[in-house]
Amino acid sequence: MSEKKSVFLKEVGPRDGFQMEKTIIPTERKIEIIDCLSESGLKKIQFTAFVHPKAVPNMADAEEVAKRIHRKEGVQYQALVANQKGYERAAAAGIEEVEFTLSATESHNLSNVNTTTEESFHRIGECLKLGLPTRIVGGVAVVFGCPFEGRPPIERLDWVVEKFLDLGIEEVTLADTAGVGDPEQVYSIFSHMLDKYPKMYFCFHPHNTHGTALSNTLAAIRAGVPMIDASTAGLGGCPFSPGASGNLAMEDLVDVLETMGYPTGINLDTIIKAGRMIQDTVHHSDSATLRAGKISDLTAESVHRQHNA
Ligand code: ZN
Repeated sequence: MSEKKSVFLKEVGPRDGFQMEKTIIPTERKIEIIDCLSESGLKKIQFTAFVHPKAVPNMADAEEVAKRIHRKEGVQYQALVANQKGYERAAAAGIEEVEFTLSATESHNLSNVNTTTEESFHRIGECLKLGLPTRIVGGVAVVFGCPFEGRPPIERLDWVVEKFLDLGIEEVTLADTAGVGDPEQVYSIFSHMLDKYPKMYFCFHPHNTHGTALSNTLAAIRAGVPMIDASTAGLGGCPFSPGASGNLAMEDLVDVLETMGYPTGINLDTIIKAGRMIQDTVHHSDSATLRAGKISDLTAESVHRQHNA
């Protein structure tokens, strides 16, 4: 059997998860959680968003969090932005990388950032012209299905990826924002993308709205996607889908990948520790590991039982 390729996991919980919380999480607590995640072996943490504080009250302390977290060497700290103002704030806060987000469909882009997708690309171009040291990578919402337009045609997805490449951006996250993708579709879109755009470094961002986040992620990995987004404690999800469950829990993904023989470089116990801190803070979670323990524990226990039977 050939050696399984390691999978690069990007933590998005402190942004995607915390932004959805109705109660304001104290800045101090956010910092403790991010610092714990930094000790887990994760190499990229999307830890905040520079967006309008009225629109997303839980991200109003982005500058403060950026200033006070312990930036561990070897870990990239990424922020999410959706316009030039956000990009300039992130750059002023000394952020090394931002994910500039836009939507695959016009109607979702209009509802999210009140402009066309084309105009969002124009804004990225304007940000690049500023010559600031903060690197820009791409983020694309509703790639696998849009609440307004259904599944975008592949030609449209090609157009989006090509626009990024034209701007010199060679890393892009394709998000299943509504959580309506299915494993065959995810496999087929990423197979197409990886074959057609070998220069682009792709990441998959699943949502578990319909319980398909893990199967879709494994399909993406099978297709060859090198990077996956996940959220410790499974917080997050789609703000447009009422009652939707969150992102894929980082601890569940690490546990199943390691069990399958895909190295992640992440210490599961540290992620579980951060998961419990998150659970204690927001009083909910969506994580099989936090509920039921680790697969590896159960396997060890059943082996132990067999030996003593
Ligand atoms: Zn998300």
